Amino acid sequence: MGPARRVGIMGGTFDPIHLGHLVTAEQARADLGLDEVVFMPAGSPWQKTRTVTPPGHRYLMTVLATAANPAFSVSRLELDADGPTYTVETLRTVRKALPDDALYFITGADAILNILTWKDADECLELAAFVAATRPGHDLGGRDAQRPRERVPVLDVPARAIRSTAGRDRIAAGRAVSYLIPREVEEYVRKHGLYGTPARPPAAGALT
Ligand code: ATP
Ligand code: MG
Repeated sequence: MGPARRVGIMGGTFDPIHLGHLVTAEQARADLGLDEVVFMPAGSPWQKTRTVTPPGHRYLMTVLATAANPAFSVSRLELDADGPTYTVETLRTVRKALPDDALYFITGADAILNILTWKDADECLELAAFVAATRPGHDLGGRDAQRPRERVPVLDVPARAIRSTAGRDRIAAGRAVSYLIPREVEEYVRKHGLYGTPARPPAAGALT
C-alpha cells in the first residue's frame, strides 16, 4: 500500500455549483497539499427549506464543473442515500472506506459557524480535520464564544461573494452569470430549463 493520501471533502447542495465553491476547493488543495478534493452533493439537505433541484441534475452540474481538474472528483454517496444525510454519517462512511488517509472537511465560513448545531459535532471534528474558508459577508472572527475556533484553521480564499441563491435568482431574472457560474453549468441549466429558464428539449429527447 502506498503512503497515506490527503483527501479533502467539500459538501454542499451545489444548486448550482459556482466559482466560489471551485476557488475554495482549489485553494484548500493547494494550501493543504491535498491529493484529491471530493465534492459531495447533499441528498435531501435537512437544513434547507426550499425545494432543491433533483439530485441527478446537481450531480451532473458538479461533474461538469470539476471534470477538467485532475484532483477533483464527485461522490454520489449522499445523493444515493435514502432521506437526509448527516455530515457525521458521511464522515463515518468515508473514514471506513479510507482508513489510512488524512481527511479534511472543507466548509465556508457560514457553514462552520453552524457547526455546533450539527448532529454530533464533536464526532465530526474527530473524524476529519475541519477547515473554514473565508466567505464575504461571514465573519470568522465573531462573537460566538462557543465556536470551536482553535480546532478549525482558516483558509484564506480570494473573495467571491457569489452564492447559489443569487445565481438562481439571476438566472431566473434573465441576468448574466458569466464568471460566477462555469459556462458548462450555465449551458446545462439552459438546456434543462432549470431555475425558471425555458426548457429546450433536444429533438431526440424521446430517445434519451
Ligand atoms: P445557497 O445560497 O443555496 O446556500 P451556497 O452558495 O451557500 O448556496 P452551498 O451548496 O450551500 O452553496 O455551499 C456548500 C459549501 O460551500 C458550504 O460549506 C459553503 O459555506 C461553501 N461556500 C459556498 N459559497 C462560498 C463562497 N463564495 N466562498 C467560500 N465558501 C463558499
Ligand atoms: Mg449555503
